Amino acid sequence: MFEKVLIANRGEIALRLHRACREMGIQTVAVHSTADGDAMHVRLADEAVCIGPPAAKDSYLNMPAVLAAAEITGSEGIHPGYGFLSENADFAHIVEEHGYTFIGPSEEHIRLMGDKVEAKRTVSRLGIPVVPGSDGAITDEDEARRQADDIGYPVLIKAAAGGGGRGMKLVHSADAFAASLAAARSESKAAFNDDAVYLEKYLERPRHIEVQVIGDGTGKIVHLGERDCSLQRRHQKVLEEAPSPALNAEARERIGDVVVKALSEIKYTSLGTVEFLYEDGEFYFIEMNTRLQVEHPITEAITGIDLVREQIHIAAGAPLSFSQNNIRFAGHAIECRINAEDPRSFAPSPGQVGDFHAPGGLGVRVDSALYSGYRVPPHYDSLIAKLVVHGYNRNDCLMRLTRSLEEFVIGGITSNTPLHAELIRQQDFIDGNYHIHWLEQYLAQQD
Ligand code: ADP
Repeated sequence: MFEKVLIANRGEIALRLHRACREMGIQTVAVHSTADGDAMHVRLADEAVCIGPPAAKDSYLNMPAVLAAAEITGSEGIHPGYGFLSENADFAHIVEEHGYTFIGPSEEHIRLMGDKVEAKRTVSRLGIPVVPGSDGAITDEDEARRQADDIGYPVLIKAAAGGGGRGMKLVHSADAFAASLAAARSESKAAFNDDAVYLEKYLERPRHIEVQVIGDGTGKIVHLGERDCSLQRRHQKVLEEAPSPALNAEARERIGDVVVKALSEIKYTSLGTVEFLYEDGEFYFIEMNTRLQVEHPITEAITGIDLVREQIHIAAGAPLSFSQNNIRFAGHAIECRINAEDPRSFAPSPGQVGDFHAPGGLGVRVDSALYSGYRVPPHYDSLIAKLVVHGYNRNDCLMRLTRSLEEFVIGGITSNTPLHAELIRQQDFIDGNYHIHWLEQYLAQQD
């Protein structure tokens, strides 16, 4: 096992990783920008190294600085968390080349799944159903237009290097195709330095359902059920739940089996999430994330498995310690992503936290790096807390979530807590009757 792990991230996830290491007897090294000197994970870690100025490209994305911090502290493993360098195959390569262990999947699998066109082709070959779309990346505009006609409008133009919904354009008719293609290409070039795009049939009322897996590189893969992340705004998840209110046991087992079989063929290592759209009883693969996800705690709640701990064990060379038939799903869990933003305009609201009180009690978990007096810096993602609630069943979970949101006090800055309280009161949500476009339609009606 590692003696010392460097945490190449910030905020709530850096704290989450620190906690797992601590409980495993592993020393932690925090790295931080000059904007994060007083961050909670920096305070708690055994050692801390400042790796650059506030801009992420100069600090959290600065590979030489992260490696130098690993070198001077004698770290053995590097955990990238989510975002930042977590899905950067070059980083995974350089980490290993310098003799450290990258706590995550292999460089090859990160690279494969990072190219969404290649990923679709590969998983389709492995028996996973995909969204109907263009045959690979688009090269020629006229040919692309013909393919769009064949797929049938509306179509979605997506970036091959995509992430965070960028480079994605919805096209309703052939007249708008050329302009949308140009826009998608230039947005993708600006965001990912890659203008390759592909086409997909636009699904009108799907749910976003993703399957959590873990593998140890020997071909042994276990799935830990699904998460339903259909409550989204601008392709960004707002609230997630597990299990999905839309799946029955048969559908859950069917998709779990398909995913396990495919990933065991490629001997996937570490944590991964296979994302699907689900409509009219059919699953359609959209992408695979080769990292720990923001919403992993709801899976931990219903399985009782510490995903980060298992991920670290596997990175240290241990085999998976459980099999599929050891997994028992218990109850229902919901996560609310609490952001420092206005609940209506969604404008970011960084600044100094005044009073802070996190809810607690049975079945309530708050992953947050906030404390009273902490200054939320303006340079990073606005996620400041994850409220994760577990109950015997969905109704119980909703009651507990309602009272937890009532208890939550985050003074001094504006957060989207009132929006969560409002959304979980809506009849469609109570009935579990919502799809990926539901939230935007709801917000549009309120204006
Ligand atoms: P990114 O990597 O940019 O996050 P994804 O492929 O994961 O892109 O898609 C993000 C979200 O965009 C999905 O959760 C879904 O809401 C929406 N989306 C993606 N593909 C489609 C599609 N073919 N039809 C309708 N919505 C889609």
